[in-house]
Amino acid sequence: MGIVIAIDGVVSAGKSTTARLLARHLGYRHLDTGAMYRTLTLAAQRAQVAPVADAALEALLQRIRIDLEPDGRVLLDGEEVGEAIRQPRISRAVGAYADLPLVRRAMVAQQQRLGAAGGVVAEGRDMASVVFPQAQLKVRLVADLEVRARRRHRELETKGVAITLEEVRADIRRRDQEDLERDYGASGPPAGVIEVDTTTMSIDEQVAHLAALARQRGA
Ligand code: C5P
Repeated sequence: MGIVIAIDGVVSAGKSTTARLLARHLGYRHLDTGAMYRTLTLAAQRAQVAPVADAALEALLQRIRIDLEPDGRVLLDGEEVGEAIRQPRISRAVGAYADLPLVRRAMVAQQQRLGAAGGVVAEGRDMASVVFPQAQLKVRLVADLEVRARRRHRELETKGVAITLEEVRADIRRRDQEDLERDYGASGPPAGVIEVDTTTMSIDEQVAHLAALARQRGA
């Protein structure tokens, strides 16, 4: 068993890293919902199914199988796609699919099934508001734009991506705005969400802080 922990937050606030490490720390499953939307997008691109609410997309959603393995692997019909879904081609296209209510309905239903038994750290923008409003711990990670831009820039540099700090800052600002405008189908702001400002925290401190909050709630 275990509790449900919902982690939401602004762009580049450290959601994924924190969620992954927190899940490992607690022996919980990491429910990376962004990976699910990315995998659906990959499947749609391969099958040349456009991001429109039609029978082709409906059939694709019924046909494909997305698995998030406990060891972090992401499977599309049994094939490991962890690398493929992080390509810029997918990042650019995923929003158009994620905006469609028929896609969200299918993804939310699968996420709720995966979280039904508890013991999960679920990460994504609609976790507290739509998918797990009853989660025992709901956290929203925030941080100053400048700090987020510097963290993300450093991360991209280590990956060998040539990009300036200014470009990263502009990209985060644009995605912040897109997030504000996106409709996740929530009926209102979620109740009981704890905002954690990570501006001056290291990743280890973020994980320790969330683990303490989780323990207070029965983890
Ligand atoms: O978190 P990640 O960058 O992998 O998410 C990829 C995209 O999937 C987001 O930009 C968003 O369009 C979509 N997404 C979503 N709802 C979620 C998680 C991700 O719409 N719960």
